[in-house]
Amino acid sequence: MSDVKARYLPLIQAVRERFPGDGFVPLHAPVFGGNEKTYLSECIDSTFVSSVGPFVDRFERMMEEITGSKFAIATMNGTAALHMTLILAGVRDGDEVITQPLTFVATCNAIAYQRAHPIFLDVDRDTLGLSPDAVADFLESHAEMRDGQCFNRGTGRRIRAMVPMHTFGIASRIEKLIEIGERWNIVVIEDAAEAIGSTWKGKALGTFAPLSAFSFNGNKIVTSGGGGCVVTDSPEIARLAKHLTTTAKSPHAWEFSHDQVGYNYRLPNINAALACAQLEQLPGFLAKKRELSRFYADVCQKAGLNFLNEPVGGESNFWLNAVLTEGRDERDALLAYAADEKIMMRPVWQLMTTLPAFRDAQAMAIPNAQWLQDRIVNIPSSVPAQ
Ligand SMILES: *Cc1c(COP(=O)(O)O)cnc(C)c1O
Repeated sequence: MSDVKARYLPLIQAVRERFPGDGFVPLHAPVFGGNEKTYLSECIDSTFVSSVGPFVDRFERMMEEITGSKFAIATMNGTAALHMTLILAGVRDGDEVITQPLTFVATCNAIAYQRAHPIFLDVDRDTLGLSPDAVADFLESHAEMRDGQCFNRGTGRRIRAMVPMHTFGIASRIEKLIEIGERWNIVVIEDAAEAIGSTWKGKALGTFAPLSAFSFNGNKIVTSGGGGCVVTDSPEIARLAKHLTTTAKSPHAWEFSHDQVGYNYRLPNINAALACAQLEQLPGFLAKKRELSRFYADVCQKAGLNFLNEPVGGESNFWLNAVLTEGRDERDALLAYAADEKIMMRPVWQLMTTLPAFRDAQAMAIPNAQWLQDRIVNIPSSVPAQ
C-alpha cells in the first residue's frame, strides 16, 4: 500500500492542483456557465415544458450540426435512444446482437428490452472498444450465411446487429467493424453515449454506422438532466424514429389515432432547453478537457504512470480520463488511497458477463476485457473551473 502511495502521489497532487480546495473532488460534475437559466426561464414562461416545444427542435438541429449527420431525433435518455436504434435496426424477439462485455449496462439492457440475446466478444486493449479481430474470428467459426442473412450455427438464431461502444469517448475500430458488418449483413449501431465531440480521422463518432445513440445524462460532458438522441443519415429511418418515439401518433388536427405500438420516449422541452445551453458550450468544454488530459498525461509520463491516451488518428473528448494500473491489487490500493484523500476515482464497470442478467449469455474468451477490468482507474475529469 505505501509503495502504491509513493507511486501515485504525483497524480493525487495533480488532481488537487487542478481541482483546488479541501473538499471532495467528484469524478465528473456538470458545469453550468452559459444560457442555462435564461433558456429554462424562457421555457417555463412559454408553458411548453413537455414533449412539444421549440427547444426540442433546436436541440435536434444543434446535434445535426455538431455531429455532421443529417438527422438527430431527441429522446428522454440515452438508454431509450439505444433501445430505439435496435428497434429501427429490426432487432426482435430471439435475434442475437454482438456487443462488448466492457460497457455500461445500458447497452445490454437495450438489447434485452427487444428480447434479443447479446453475444459478448472481446475488446481491443488500446481502444477499449469491440475488437474487429474477435468479431471476425467469431463469425468465421460460429456463423453462416443463409439466403443473405447471418445465422449463429450453434443456436440457429439470426445475428442481426452489432453494438460497439466508444469507451470514455475513445474511438473503437469502427470502420473495420462496419466492413465486417457489411460482409455478414449485420447492422452496426454505435453506442456513442460517451463520445460526443470525439472524432476518428476528422469525422464525428456516431456518424460512421447507419444508426447511433448519444446520452446527455448528468455525468456526461454536456447534460440535459436526462436526455439522449438517435442519429442517422437516412430520412426514412429518421421519420420512423420520430414517429415511434412520439407514441406512433398519426398526424391529425384532433383525432387520437396511433398506427402501431409506440413509445413515449420524446425528450421534454425543459430538458432540451438545458441541452441547448450546454451544447453551446461544448467547444469550450472540449478544449478545457483536452488541456486537463494533456496535463495528466504529462504528470503520468514524468511519474512513470500509464495514462490512457487518445488513439493515433482520432481525437477523444476525454470524457473520463483513466490510468492503467499494474493489476487488481494496485488498482484497489489506488482506489482506497484516493478515497482517503477525498478524491473520487473509480474502476471500470463490472464486465457484463458477470451480471446476473447476462451471465448465461453466449460469450467467447475475453482476456483483454478482463485485463482492462483489473487495471483501469478513472480519475477526476470535470471541466475545470479556470
Ligand atoms: C451513459 C451511457 C448510456 C446511456 O445512458 P442514459 O443514462 O440512459 O442516458 C448508454 N451507454 C453507455 C456506454 C453510457 O455510458
